[in-house]
Amino acid sequence: MLRKVGIVGGGPSGLYAGYLLKSRGLADIVDVYEINPRFATYGFGISMADSGLRRLREFDEKSYETIHAQMHTLQDHVIEHPDGAVNVRDNRGAGAIGRAELLALLLDCCEQAGVNVHNEHRIDSLTSLEDCDLVIGADGTNSVVRSLLAAEFGTSTYYLSNRFAWYGTKCPYEGSTLTFLAGDKGSWCGHHYRYSDSMSTFVPECDAVTWTSCGLDDMNDDERRLFVEDAFAETLQGHELIENNSIWRCFRVTKNKRVVHKNVALLGDALFAAHYSIGSGTRLAMEDAVALVQSLETSPGSVQTALQEFQEQRGAERFKFVDACEKSWTWFEGFGSRIPALSPLEFSYEYMVRTGRLDDEKIRNVSPHFMAKLDEHRRAADPASTVA
Ligand SMILES: Cc1cc2nc3c(=O)[nH]c(=O)nc-3n(C[C@H](O)[C@H](O)[C@H](O)COP(=O)(O)OP(=O)(O)OC[C@H]3O[C@@H](n4cnc5c(N)ncnc54)[C@H](O)[C@@H]3O)c2cc1C
Repeated sequence: MLRKVGIVGGGPSGLYAGYLLKSRGLADIVDVYEINPRFATYGFGISMADSGLRRLREFDEKSYETIHAQMHTLQDHVIEHPDGAVNVRDNRGAGAIGRAELLALLLDCCEQAGVNVHNEHRIDSLTSLEDCDLVIGADGTNSVVRSLLAAEFGTSTYYLSNRFAWYGTKCPYEGSTLTFLAGDKGSWCGHHYRYSDSMSTFVPECDAVTWTSCGLDDMNDDERRLFVEDAFAETLQGHELIENNSIWRCFRVTKNKRVVHKNVALLGDALFAAHYSIGSGTRLAMEDAVALVQSLETSPGSVQTALQEFQEQRGAERFKFVDACEKSWTWFEGFGSRIPALSPLEFSYEYMVRTGRLDDEKIRNVSPHFMAKLDEHRRAADPASTVA
């Protein structure tokens, strides 16, 4: 058993890791340090795919049940092209939950298990954690732990060019939708889905040309919000966008060559922030915690051996995911030129295969209705085609 574990960051990865370590009897003392006060956080709702939810259930039924009971189920996944909407994924059973609600539930799990959560406690150096057997950097995309050891982790960063902000709205959407716009207000994608009885997430994203040609670069955040409300007036159905630290920014890509250094391990966004177009950052962050705990259970006698195992298993898994993310954000960075060039079905198909993880056969399995429509469209376009 570990004597003491110090976790920097009380987001999904840090709290879930703390809860698992303590509830499975792997550590005597677990301290989580979080800058924010209790129940204060950025953002709105997050969604999790059915496959990810299944994995969390397999590993820890109790926390899964607690979280799942508060989730809003998302069935359809719709692509709204300016010339028509296409449902690309029916009955998928994904779940959505407010980030604040998720953190409150994980905090409760932690406290019931005996984890010490220290809110309003910022960690600026690793000196105060020197007496820990294991230090976990779960402090998000701007991780201090990773920055302090950037050379050791082999960290590199750069920024994408699209701009986005994370808003909420009271518009009661069903399913999860990407609304694409192209016109005098520029090229936009609005990612939106409901996550509670009364709230939906709304993430507007525009390309770099739109940002400058529509003058968004010269506006303040209030003016930008009003601009987006106007551009998406039909989609928002008269509802306003609600702010919660809704800062406009370019997505920062951070890559690390290593996921551990000595007795320090990185989890979640500190390790690699999944692009929001993949919609898996929270699930991956929690799965990082699962993988770390599994390594510690496999090698109970040595933190070093366990971390080596974590590096080999989880590091490899995460590096594969970087590739899928890169393909996804590359597709999104170029959506402006694709909207007018493709019909709604062709555009939706491109979206579905953008990461290279799905091909026609796999789509036929998960989205038979969509694939049937696409086959019909292909046959009409090319009657000699051999599409089944
Ligand atoms: C617009 C947008 C939409 C998203 N949508 C989804 C979605 O639909 N589904 C999904 O799964 N994911 C989504 N994500 C991603 C998801 O939010 C992150 O991947 C997830 O929160 C990562 O969890 P984490 O614990 O690693 O980091 P975080 O959630 O960022 O938590 C890190 C915590 O560490 C704290 N901290 C930072 N520095 C210090 C310090 N020095 N000392 C103490 N505490 C510190 C922070 O205050 C924070 O609470 C989205 C992200 C964005 C930006």
